[in-house]
Amino acid sequence: MANVTLRNVRKTYPGGFEAIKGIDVAIGDGQFCVLVGPSGCGKSTLLRMVAGLETISSGEIEIGERVVNTIEPADRDIAMVFQNYALYPHMTVYNNMAYGLRNRGMPKPEIEQRVREAARILEIEALLDRKPRQLSGGQRQRVAMGRAIVRQPKVFLFDEPLSNLDAKLRIAMRVEIRKLQRRLATTSIYVTHDQLEAMTLADILVVMNGGVVEQIGSPLEVYHR
Ligand code: ADP
Ligand code: ADP
Repeated sequence: MANVTLRNVRKTYPGGFEAIKGIDVAIGDGQFCVLVGPSGCGKSTLLRMVAGLETISSGEIEIGERVVNTIEPADRDIAMVFQNYALYPHMTVYNNMAYGLRNRGMPKPEIEQRVREAARILEIEALLDRKPRQLSGGQRQRVAMGRAIVRQPKVFLFDEPLSNLDAKLRIAMRVEIRKLQRRLATTSIYVTHDQLEAMTLADILVVMNGGVVEQIGSPLEVYHR
């Protein structure tokens, strides 16, 4: 099971600014949770705490059956997709996807099988030998997702993954992510400031403002209240 539970999570940055003021969210196994809200409301901070990239000041974060507060990012069974893609420019698409698995010492045949399967799902098989600079923005975003998928994590974390794409591509990729979610059914937390994106993707919508949860529920519940 890969539920994610946040219990009274707080974050005070060094210097004393309280960015997250006590947040409780329960995400069931396989659910797609979207954190939405204006810039500065604390979405990234919260996501980064789940990833282990930011310490939590108090409260508890549970992934699966495990409290992960003090567990290293690499051992949390999560994979994160960043806004800026964070691809290695000197590596081929194949190697960008394989890199993390090689570091874990996975046998080569299994790496190849996982990379090919992810490339097939994302329809980037023909791009495996290219370098990132030879790809379009949308293709780069697919590679970034491929790198997360090959890990077969318990939880996907997305930090505004589509905000660098133009409007048309953003809509197309939104549909792709929804299809991917139906297919993989991996528990996900997705940060965006785009309300339409949030509504289309979310099973659970968390509307944040000023470091607190303003509303939480299905998109229907939240927008028809
Ligand atoms: P969002 O992702 O919703 O735009 P963030 O989580 O990035 O919001 O930021 C929430 C608040 O915390 C903002 O007021 C921001 O300025 C502040 N903040 C973010 N990172 C730091 C930091 N490293 N030190 C101090 N304050 C920070
Ligand atoms: P680079 O030239 O980018 O340093 P290599 O081409 O030497 O990388 O590949 C490193 C490893 O990744 C090799 O073990 C190679 O077999 C494997 N590899 C690279 N591209 C592919 C691909 N398209 N399909 C399968 N394996 C690949």
